[in-house]
Amino acid sequence: MPRSTEGNSIALTQLVEGNPVATIVIDAAHRVTHWNRACVVLTGVPAGDMIGRSEQWRAFYKTPRPILADRLIDGVLDGMPDASDERNIHKKTRPSNLIEDAFESEDFFPAIGPNGRWLFITAAPIRNEAGEIIGAIETLQDVTERRRADAALRDSEAYLAQIVDGSSVPTLVIDAAHRVTHWNRACEAMTGTLARDVIGTSDQWKAFYSTQRPIMADLVLDDADDATVDRLYHGRFQPSMVIAGGFEAEDFFPNIGESGRWLFFTAAPLRNGDGELVGAIETLQDVSERRHAEEALRESEERYRLLSQTDSLTGLYNARFLRERLPGELERATRYGRALALLVLDCDHFKQINDCFGHLEGDRVLQALADSIRQSLRRTDIAFRYGGEEFVVLMPETTALAALPLAERLRVAFAEQVVLSNTGEDIHCTVSIGIAEWGVDDSEKSLIRRADAACYQAKERGRNCVVIAGDD
Ligand code: GH3
Ligand code: MG
Ligand code: MG
Repeated sequence: MPRSTEGNSIALTQLVEGNPVATIVIDAAHRVTHWNRACVVLTGVPAGDMIGRSEQWRAFYKTPRPILADRLIDGVLDGMPDASDERNIHKKTRPSNLIEDAFESEDFFPAIGPNGRWLFITAAPIRNEAGEIIGAIETLQDVTERRRADAALRDSEAYLAQIVDGSSVPTLVIDAAHRVTHWNRACEAMTGTLARDVIGTSDQWKAFYSTQRPIMADLVLDDADDATVDRLYHGRFQPSMVIAGGFEAEDFFPNIGESGRWLFFTAAPLRNGDGELVGAIETLQDVSERRHAEEALRESEERYRLLSQTDSLTGLYNARFLRERLPGELERATRYGRALALLVLDCDHFKQINDCFGHLEGDRVLQALADSIRQSLRRTDIAFRYGGEEFVVLMPETTALAALPLAERLRVAFAEQVVLSNTGEDIHCTVSIGIAEWGVDDSEKSLIRRADAACYQAKERGRNCVVIAGDD
């Protein structure tokens, strides 16, 4: 052996032996020339069993077959498509991107170690000065842990996808760049937006709004301050009770469904193992049914409340509501020293109307009087049907003198009104009106009594007139 080759050989031996990466060298005749310590540790095969022989396969396989370095020497790898070539995508072996003339391969070796190992293998030719291949060097790296971590990550991603997709709660996930990564079936059904149209985009807003704006998940991801969230959700949000950094809100979305939907939605941050914000998850619940039920209940409660305050014949407030309102009106008058006038109206000779035309026609006259009262009221005046054919009008901020022309106008309007009976006859009716102005000594009862007395005086004076009450 020429001296220089011998020197090279010694240098190669030192390089291989001292290398912490498992390394095998074979010559052009496939004989093992080097099998370093790291390779012994990795394969469990002593160097003495290998060196000088061509049984390297025994360290890796049950039956004889070439290892990567053998294939390189045999030239069977020549012309192999490189990594960018489609044909190579599923091939385990491909030309190295790093080392010219070298090949690499990643595979699982069940015979190595108790449970097998994943090895990343590189083989490169060794050439003489003439450029001829005189051997090959193969390095083997144990990548089992990396493969396991990758698999675990894939598993956990698949797991997350299954959790999200399998959930009947509409759910969407965005990544740190605000791109949609998950959009489950329930979310598709609720929003009408298909996963395939939105995943990978930042168009999540389109499913909910007609103009571009962040959704709750975007705000959580940006760690938006309360003022920003408030501006977008108008006080209809709150920090989540259960998830740190999360928000929840209830709002109406006019663009969803045929006539809009009420949604309760929660957004929470997603963090990686290091606690870094890597995305946000948002769940949506359609609470329209509850909202509508609540609305219907509120409406029916409101209807009932109105009904309980209203006289069914005339539509004016009833006597019960007068008893409810009067204390408050007196209290206001007392506290602010404001005037308050109370009118009592009683139909004149109403018995005769009933007698002539019947009770039903009498009712129609009462309805006509109620209409007259309604038409002559000011916005702040309140009218009540107090008894059978007696009415009360409350006039806040009004003295008896100021109430007089209003009462007169009402009296005249009613007197001029003609109700046509079912037999085609004209029914005329008039009212007598008593006015009392609230005085500091007045109770609710005394105020009504004085107005009543004034009304009685009006009857005495011949009816169809207005009388202002004196003091008790
Ligand atoms: P006056 O001018 O003195 O008031 O004579 P009046 O006939 O109206 O006498 P009074 O006020 O004492 O009688 C009221 C009558 O109104 C008695 C009752 O038959 C009738 N009345 C009371 N409530 C109703 C009602 O709801 N509908 C009808 N049609 N009549 C009623
Ligand atoms: Mg009466
Ligand atoms: Mg009467």
